[in-house]
Amino acid sequence: MALHALAYCPRLFYLEEVEEIRVADDRVYAGRELHASLEAEEEGAWESTELVCPGLGLTGRLDCLRRRDGSLVPYEHKRGRCRRGEGNEPTAWVSDRIQVAAYAFMLEESLAQAVPEGRIRYHQDGVTVRVPLDEAARQEVRTAVATARRLRESLERPPVADNENLCVHCSLAPVCLPEEARRARHPDHETVRLFPEARDRTTVHVLASGAAVGRSGDTLVVRPRDGPPTTYPAREVLAIVLHGFAQVSTQALRLCTFHDISVHWVTAGGRYVAGLAAGPSQVHRRLRQYAALAQEPVRLRLARALAMAKIEGQVRYLLRATRGNAAARAAIVTPLRQVREALHAAAGAASREALRGHEGEAARRYFACLEHLLAETVPDDLRFSRRSRRPPQDRFNALLGFGYALLQTAVMRAVLAVGLEPALGFFHTPRSAAHPLVLDLMELFRVPLWDMVLMASLNRGQWKPGEDFDVSRTKVWLSDAGRRKAIQLFEGRLQEAWKHPVLGYSLTYDRAIELEVRLLEKEWSGEPGLFARMRLR
Ligand code: SF4
Repeated sequence: MALHALAYCPRLFYLEEVEEIRVADDRVYAGRELHASLEAEEEGAWESTELVCPGLGLTGRLDCLRRRDGSLVPYEHKRGRCRRGEGNEPTAWVSDRIQVAAYAFMLEESLAQAVPEGRIRYHQDGVTVRVPLDEAARQEVRTAVATARRLRESLERPPVADNENLCVHCSLAPVCLPEEARRARHPDHETVRLFPEARDRTTVHVLASGAAVGRSGDTLVVRPRDGPPTTYPAREVLAIVLHGFAQVSTQALRLCTFHDISVHWVTAGGRYVAGLAAGPSQVHRRLRQYAALAQEPVRLRLARALAMAKIEGQVRYLLRATRGNAAARAAIVTPLRQVREALHAAAGAASREALRGHEGEAARRYFACLEHLLAETVPDDLRFSRRSRRPPQDRFNALLGFGYALLQTAVMRAVLAVGLEPALGFFHTPRSAAHPLVLDLMELFRVPLWDMVLMASLNRGQWKPGEDFDVSRTKVWLSDAGRRKAIQLFEGRLQEAWKHPVLGYSLTYDRAIELEVRLLEKEWSGEPGLFARMRLR
């Protein structure tokens, strides 16, 4: 399989075999079903066989081994169509040919007897193609093994395939982002969408105090203390967020790790505690991250791009929210000017420390504007005077803090999925329990994913000062009802589509978070230039 991937595209081999990233898309599932059905249909005849060949340094699993004309012949089954030669005769694709030749070569080496050929059955065409094992085929296998060994030792991910058609049929395109890499290299390249617009898996928030998450077969079961359980097929779940003191069983955690479901713990007050994601080796990705972020010029460049994107987002939102409202626009003239000045200063900042100062200044002026964006109908209890956190001192800050905790969860999920080290960032300093890289990336999304949503919901009168909050002498938290409402708003926003201004395609905000993390990783993987280019329209 590894040699098949290598012949298809060296980058595919590297992603799958070296970085251990595997994506099971519909084509992969269909291939697995084909093999299962063959085994079921022709029991005994279609026997798969494990092969180990230390001499060649290969192991493999044959689809089927048969005796033909006195010789053993390995068979490989492919769901799709064969390649056609010049006279339209059926031939094997290069990657299939090398795979079956490797099986034949391994058999020959292991059994010390001649194996004259391998055969490939293309099920969509109903044809079988014969691949002779001659000296040229043996040499092709040896060369491929040597290339694979060399790539295994390298920290450098090979470039994307020249043949763009390969990417259209590649299961790893959403991870590899070949079109984005081409766009980074050639600004005129018109990006074809290979990154899925939305996901079909959901995040399950477990809110009820005393609720427990368990497992039943391939299903996650959430049992509240009172009331009936709710079930979620594991393949449909992307993440579980446990709020407060909800429990999760070991069996459920194992099911989560098997299905790549990340699990996150958030306190009842909305503070992010920890996240868990099963991941294979992330060594190469992390080594590249460490190497890049050990260089101050790289950190400064990324920090500047991030701060500029954030502050520009604040300016655009303030302008948009006061469009057609002369009184509000007049009220924010001074702080808006100061935000713009901070933006200008950030563009020329010579150090990250200076950049943090300009970003902090912009944030202070931006928050000073928010009160003027609230409708007169918003009750005093819900209005904003100044920022307070850990713990929040009023309802507005409780809402702001809880929304940011949800954002933190979503960003952490994406960082873990991409396989980066969340503790190693480039803008925030490691001060609190929060991971600096997650805090960094959150800056891109605070305005579009929560500030705008929160302000709109307040102006629509969606919040009840009594029911939605728990108020004590020292702090204000969201009540269960308030948290449910906030989660609904946030998750709804994640599913809204938005068009990337540089890449030119639409995707949900949920996907946009993952895209930005992947684009960040490209910054130090030889394909820089697209991180933090997202902007509000
Ligand atoms: S998407 Fe294209 S470049 Fe990336 S691994 Fe697949 S074939 Fe290779």
